[in-house]
Amino acid sequence: MPPSDSTAIGPSLDVPPGEARAPAQEKANATVAASDAEGCWLRVQEALRARIVPEQFETWFLQARLLVADGPEGAQDVSLAVLNSYTCDWISKYYGPAVESAVRSVLGKGCRVRITVDPEATVPPAHAAPEPAKTDRGAAPGAPIGAPNGQATGLAPGAGLLWNSDVVLNHKYTFENFVVGPCNRFAHAAAVGSGERPGMNYNPFFLHGRVGVGKTHLLQALCFSILERDPSARILYLSCETFVNHFISALQNGDLDEFRTKYRNVDVLVVDDIHILANKERTQEEFFHTFNTLYQAGKQLVLSSDSPPKDIPTLQERLVSRFKWGMVTEVEPPCYETRMAIVKRKSRDQGRELPDAVAQLIAEQIDQNVRELEGAVTRLLGFSSLTGKPLTLELAREALGDLLQVNQGTPTMDDIISAVTGKFGVKLSELQSKRRTKSITHPRQVAMFLARRITRHSLEEIGGFFGGRDHSTVIYAVDRVAKAVRSDPEVREQVESLLGRLGAPSDGPL
Ligand code: ADP
Ligand code: MG
Repeated sequence: MPPSDSTAIGPSLDVPPGEARAPAQEKANATVAASDAEGCWLRVQEALRARIVPEQFETWFLQARLLVADGPEGAQDVSLAVLNSYTCDWISKYYGPAVESAVRSVLGKGCRVRITVDPEATVPPAHAAPEPAKTDRGAAPGAPIGAPNGQATGLAPGAGLLWNSDVVLNHKYTFENFVVGPCNRFAHAAAVGSGERPGMNYNPFFLHGRVGVGKTHLLQALCFSILERDPSARILYLSCETFVNHFISALQNGDLDEFRTKYRNVDVLVVDDIHILANKERTQEEFFHTFNTLYQAGKQLVLSSDSPPKDIPTLQERLVSRFKWGMVTEVEPPCYETRMAIVKRKSRDQGRELPDAVAQLIAEQIDQNVRELEGAVTRLLGFSSLTGKPLTLELAREALGDLLQVNQGTPTMDDIISAVTGKFGVKLSELQSKRRTKSITHPRQVAMFLARRITRHSLEEIGGFFGGRDHSTVIYAVDRVAKAVRSDPEVREQVESLLGRLGAPSDGPL
């Protein structure tokens, strides 16, 4: 199926292809007031939920957003903005009629509907609520709001995060739904411990790991467990980006006092993806004071990051040391057995058992990211129920072709980095640093050489992976290693063994 940027359902629109990716500002001018579009989308979502099974709805539509162009009522041009061309094709192919009828039932029969790829317009995952919002975000500051589907977690209705949290808890992100294995056992136990005695056991609780390994899941499970014990706990849950944005607007509007009151009057402050503080000096300064105030008052701080405190670039030393005061723990990518358990669990949750061979195929091929693992199961089950075909290996290959290929034998940047850091005994942070000692520059240059040879990343992208170096530095590195391979047997051996370890073809001249 060729990827497409925009697919018309029903009568086609006369929209030039580039328009689907128009910047947000232009888009706002071309659409009805944001609040109206938001209201329409909520009603269309409701209509869609009535037509589609819940798991499929959550997989394909939670991050979408409806854009309604100006036009005579009942005959507007409507586009459903989605994240990528795969989603666009999938929705068009399998849910086109459902989308069309849902939109028309809300906006009128004359509407023309199109599905467009427009990542900027979509809703980031943390904001994509799994159930229609039942909360009142206009409630008085400090008043707790209801978490969606609170009953599912045993919480009293009305319990939940503080109103100014920027996410609603996902009712599936509980400890019960978290599959524990060697890779995450320690992090899981620490999260359970923090939830039992907030502010006492591990403070701060700092969780780090790659993307998609379950950090946000554990953070939210921790919030649920605190709220189950004490529904009146005042938990503020934020992505770090929100903290940064609030701080900047408080600075601009001279509202710093209000900002501080908001952030410093909580029992638990949870900040997801704290590594975003990198290179933001003033926000780091402010966060330092927020941290101190809460810590001294015995309040719990919970932080997640893509790397340990010392590896967050430019993070002030005093923050690094504070982040290490409590419990710092890593969530590692799941091992094969854990992946199998996750695959089985996710399919069972969706009401189907996967045959062992199919579960094995998925668990073997998707080995780094639980989100992808979960997505593969949902996609396969959806594919099977839509086509009526049984869950065989053949069907899995058909439904998951692109996911499996990506993971098949094509080493990624992460693979290269872990092979190089392992071989030379250096750290990723050193490869990304400005250090120019030979013990660091040589592995860095070898990593760039391998990236150029094996991956499809551009010179700029490769430079970006290694601490934001420009393309001429990458060209120089690639050139230097290529020459050394020819003139220095030791370097040749290093490169050949790395290529072997990465399973990359070593044929062709080096
Ligand atoms: P991160 O925040 O580390 O990027 P998430 O917490 O968003 O990752 O996890 C990605 C997806 O994978 C979520 O849907 C989460 O529920 C699921 N997930 C991750 N780890 C596990 C696990 N051990 N058991 C069950 N589901 C998991
Ligand atoms: Mg996360």
